[in-house]
Amino acid sequence: MSQNRWAQQTLWGWGRYPRVESLVARPERRKEVLDALADRQGDPVLAFGLGRCYGDAALLREGRVVLTRRLDRMLAFDPETGWLRCEAGVSLEEILHTFVPRGFFPPVVPGTQFVTVGGAIACDIHGKNHHVDGSFADHIRRVELLVADGRVVTCGPDEEPELFWATVGGMGLTGLILSCELQLARIDNPYIEMESIRVENLEQFFEVSAESGHFTHTVSWLDCVTTGKATGRGIFMRGRHAPAGTTGGLSLLSRLGRAAPALINFPVDGPDWMLNQATIKAFNEVYFRKHPKGQVNSIVHYEPFFFPLDAVRNWNRMYGNRGFLQYQFVVPPDPSHKAIRLVLEEITRSGLGSFLAVIKEFGERQHGGISFPAPGPMIALDFGIAGQPLFDLLDRLDRIVLDAGGRIYLGKDSRVPRHVFEQMFPELPKWKAVRDAWDPGHVFQSELGRRLGLSGGQR
Ligand SMILES: Cc1cc2nc3c(=O)[nH]c(=O)nc-3n(C[C@H](O)[C@H](O)[C@H](O)COP(=O)(O)OP(=O)(O)OC[C@H]3O[C@@H](n4cnc5c(N)ncnc54)[C@H](O)[C@@H]3O)c2cc1C
Repeated sequence: MSQNRWAQQTLWGWGRYPRVESLVARPERRKEVLDALADRQGDPVLAFGLGRCYGDAALLREGRVVLTRRLDRMLAFDPETGWLRCEAGVSLEEILHTFVPRGFFPPVVPGTQFVTVGGAIACDIHGKNHHVDGSFADHIRRVELLVADGRVVTCGPDEEPELFWATVGGMGLTGLILSCELQLARIDNPYIEMESIRVENLEQFFEVSAESGHFTHTVSWLDCVTTGKATGRGIFMRGRHAPAGTTGGLSLLSRLGRAAPALINFPVDGPDWMLNQATIKAFNEVYFRKHPKGQVNSIVHYEPFFFPLDAVRNWNRMYGNRGFLQYQFVVPPDPSHKAIRLVLEEITRSGLGSFLAVIKEFGERQHGGISFPAPGPMIALDFGIAGQPLFDLLDRLDRIVLDAGGRIYLGKDSRVPRHVFEQMFPELPKWKAVRDAWDPGHVFQSELGRRLGLSGGQR
């Protein structure tokens, strides 16, 4: 029985670095999850959703990993209030397909729709609307959590709040989320009123960002290889759900529907030379120049606005077999933008370009513990794995972020040193105390947790 339940499998996150061998189970029913936990034979356990975190947060060597994707039932929905109760393996894509035609939208979405609600809570994901709506957890009133002693505990802002806030952004280390209640937002149609503005440098980015507070969604693509007066140039995008009566075409992904994975696919690993400083510079130049000077207004379907990268399945293979990582950080607001400038200068000096970079100013809401979002400008930078020079660069970026009082996003991380992480999250001791109260033996572990001294077995 237990041999059938657990099977050996290699797992990786979206960055395809690192890759780890584990025993995995694929329960379909809640009882099978409880049985799997009971049958772990003393090994540590971790939940794995759709594997869209980039690094090692969903990985566990010498342990048991519960794949949650088959826990995909929608359990109840109230069309008066928008409250949805669903299992943790339901994806945002499934919620969108089911509820957009009924006039509802997830309250917060990340840059891909291929994430589970369990993963969204465990990473306390943020979207382009953080400055208005906060993060995913701000729209959750109840979570059913399978905790270390085998009980299913209900928690939320008003019920076992300490456990709830430690679970939010807690990277799966407080227990396994079985289901949640999430409030969907009302929309009139699938369209977004969008404005895109070419910003010529960092100052202009911050000016446009400051005057865009009345847009619910803002983000800017950032050219992080061009220097001098044009440092920080990019394309600022702001938008809001379109009012009733707005019409437009269906997005490509919608037309292809669920056949899309087979039709638009990055078929093989990109060759190592594909993304080098010259090709990255060329891409940035073309992407920037392709946008006319000034502002363009348009009505777009929600998919290209929120999930442009989803149009190419497996785009992560573009970085080749060596994989890639994302360095994502937020620093407190600072009128001189010193830390942001220093980071961009360091990257230029290193000669290691980032192919994809985005910048956004977060709003005030934050949740403590090890949840990422905090007030201030946030930047996310993708880097192909390039050996020691890359890790040296990221150590230097850590220093800048730490000196500015900032932090990095664990959902994207695979390398931050433990002592740096501990300084970035001042509420860590409190988070550990709550976690230890619910899981004194550290049943729930991950590679990330071991690396950062969050769970037993650290090496
Ligand atoms: C293209 C792309 C764009 C992205 N954009 C954003 C963005 O804009 N904002 C943002 O915040 N993030 C973003 N992300 C990251 C992504 O949203 C998060 O990593 C999210 O958590 C992934 O969900 P998942 O279901 O794939 O979880 P996984 O990657 O499988 O797991 C992530 C973490 O959640 C835990 N977990 C998963 N399910 C459960 C469960 N049922 N119970 C307990 N713990 C669980 C895992 O143990 C792990 O620690 C992006 C990722 C990609 C690939």
